[in-house]
Amino acid sequence: MNPDSGDGQSPPQRPSVGRAVHYVSHGTPVREDGTQAYTAQCRAAVVTAVDPAPDAGPGDVFVSLAVLNPTGLFFDQFVLQDEDDHAGGTWHFPERV
Ligand SMILES: [Zn+2]
Repeated sequence: MNPDSGDGQSPPQRPSVGRAVHYVSHGTPVREDGTQAYTAQCRAAVVTAVDPAPDAGPGDVFVSLAVLNPTGLFFDQFVLQDEDDHAGGTWHFPERV
């Protein structure tokens, strides 16, 4: 398979310390009408450690992050990678724009 074909089949990227990634903030609870005061948002984050989590399953990739929110820093450990759903409280590599 041609690695330059852009078919999305290239090997998965691995996180490394100092790398910039995205952390997905937790949105506020969904109201009865389906709206949220704050929705989940991508935030800039720097990988501070690549640690095997105590309860990691096969294929799970956990990192520690320094999250750069617009209003302050936030640190977290054992954050799970989620490239597909971008669920709140997970990280992923920055989207190509
Ligand atoms: Zn993102």
